[in-house]
Amino acid sequence: MSPSEIAKEKTGLTVLGPNDIFHFTCSPEMPCFTHCCRDITIFLTPYDILRMRRALGLSSSDFLARYTVTMIGDTGLPVVVLKMSDDDEKRCPFVTDAGCRIYADRPWACRIYPLQPESSKITEKAGKAYYSVLDIPFCQGLKSDSSWILRDWIESQGIDAYEQMETLLKRITNHEKITSDKITNQKIQDMYYMACYDLDRFRRFVLESSFLQRFEVSPEEVAAISNDDEALYRFALRWLEYGLLAQQVLKVNPEVMAAKKKELGIR
Ligand code: SF4
Ligand code: SF4
Repeated sequence: MSPSEIAKEKTGLTVLGPNDIFHFTCSPEMPCFTHCCRDITIFLTPYDILRMRRALGLSSSDFLARYTVTMIGDTGLPVVVLKMSDDDEKRCPFVTDAGCRIYADRPWACRIYPLQPESSKITEKAGKAYYSVLDIPFCQGLKSDSSWILRDWIESQGIDAYEQMETLLKRITNHEKITSDKITNQKIQDMYYMACYDLDRFRRFVLESSFLQRFEVSPEEVAAISNDDEALYRFALRWLEYGLLAQQVLKVNPEVMAAKKKELGIR
C-alpha cells in the first residue's frame, strides 16, 4: 500500500500524494473564468503580503490598510485576511476581466487551488505532504479531462518558495510556547504583526531605532536588511524566535549586556 493510500484509509478522505493524478484545467475561455475570484476568504501569509505589495509598488503599511482586515487567531497572534470589494459580488480587488492583475504574485491560496492540504503535523514532520481536491460546483475546470501529476502541479504554480517561507514561520507558530497558552498581551501581538506583515515598519525599527546598538548585526546583514525584503523577513523571524521563544539566535551587544547586568545587580 502506498503512503497516500495509507493516509486515505486513515482519514477516509480522497487524499493524494505527490505522484497521484487529479483532473483540472483553467483558462480565460472557461465559462466560469474569474468566478472563483469573488466572495472568498483568503488568509494572507506574510510572504504573500511581501510579494503582493511589492507587485503593486505599495509600502507594507499602505497595502495592509487598503486591502486587508486583521483578526486574532486561535493562538492569540494576529492573522490577516484579504478584503473583498464592497460591491454586490464581493469581487477580489485584484480581479479584472482579463484575470488576476497580480497573477505572478498571487497569494498561496490562489496558487494551490484546487488542491487543499490534508497533511498532519506528523506527516509534515516527516517531510510528506498530502492534498485533497476541492469540490467547487461552479468550477468547470474540475470537470476537465486534463490530468496533472500532483507534484508537477505544485511545481508549476511556484508554490515551493511559499512553502519554504511558511516552514520558517511555523517553527514559531507551532512551537509549544505559542500553542500552549493563548497570547493576550497586546505588545506581543503588535510585535508579531510588525515583524510578519508590516515589514517596512520593521525595517525602520531595525535601522532607525537603537536596535543596532543593542544587538550585534554584521555590516553584510545590515546591507541585506536594508535592500532585500526576503532577507528582512528572515531576520524578522529570527527576532521573533529570540523575543517569543527565548532562543539565542541574536547576539546582544556585550556592553549593553554588561550595563543591564550592572543595573540589575547581577555579576
Ligand atoms: S472557477 Fe475554476 S475553471 Fe473557472 S476560472 Fe476559476 S479556477 Fe478556473
Ligand atoms: S488574488 Fe488574483 S487569483 Fe487570487 S482571488 Fe484575487 S484576482 Fe483571483
